[in-house]
Amino acid sequence: MSLRFGLAANQLHHDSADAALFHWLRRSASGIRELEIELYTVGRTCNAIERSGLLEGYAGLIRYPYGREGGLMKLVARVTRSPDGTPPFDGAIYLIDPVDPSSVFPEAQALKRQCITHGKPFISTLMGAIEWVEVERVSRGLWPDSSHKRMFDLNEQTVALIAHDALKAEMVDFAAQHFDLLSRFAQRVGTGTTSNRLNDMAWSKGWPKDTPWVQAYLSGPLGGDAQIAELVLEQRCQRVIFFEDPHVARQHEADIQLLERAVRVITDKASCIASPVVAHKWARAVSRML
Ligand code: PGA
Repeated sequence: MSLRFGLAANQLHHDSADAALFHWLRRSASGIRELEIELYTVGRTCNAIERSGLLEGYAGLIRYPYGREGGLMKLVARVTRSPDGTPPFDGAIYLIDPVDPSSVFPEAQALKRQCITHGKPFISTLMGAIEWVEVERVSRGLWPDSSHKRMFDLNEQTVALIAHDALKAEMVDFAAQHFDLLSRFAQRVGTGTTSNRLNDMAWSKGWPKDTPWVQAYLSGPLGGDAQIAELVLEQRCQRVIFFEDPHVARQHEADIQLLERAVRVITDKASCIASPVVAHKWARAVSRML
């Protein structure tokens, strides 16, 4: 069964030969063809791919309307289950330029929100897009592509672990299940309350009592997300695993957005996972690569 992904890129990411969209295709086109991923691609992004020739002759490049004609809005509906039985997308890749005004239009926010609600990956950075094709390949049982090896050098990376209240238990569960994998990171950081819960779990597993497993920053509502955003901007944190609760109003919404925007500034060296289903799939695939 082939995979289906919605695809769009802000102008910065497709307006020059060096743009992120083309870097992605140069690194991932063979994986896309191998898995026969159908890419439902919004107008201008589709034009740019056709002009580049990087998916020449590929039947899985499917044109969606231009953004101005509602292309991105249509992608949102396809992430959810369709009443007529059309299979939903398996995720959305939207290469975001955080200073492009269209990246904060309601359809852009809804696309992320519906991906989280339905447990699908919402991929907004170049590193995330390259990585996800590899995750899908390895999840299918294909041999890891050695050209992506550096991306999975966890012992040279820092991961941020954050969860909203309703999802803290799932975060502890996730971290306990993938404890060995997450322990490979050079460092783990987190917002205050999440970190406390994770450290208790780690100590209960025998992690040395005098060393925190996760370095705790402030609690999210008190500025912890903003502190971690700064780490990301300084390239001292490459991965954010943030279990977001899409069903509550969040008093520190601006801080949450800030952290996600920081990840998108460092598009080629940072990625963000926003829901438990996606995080488990990622962790299972990466465990197989090591
Ligand atoms: P907390 O913060 O781990 O301190 O609860 C998480 C958040 O709400 O961002």
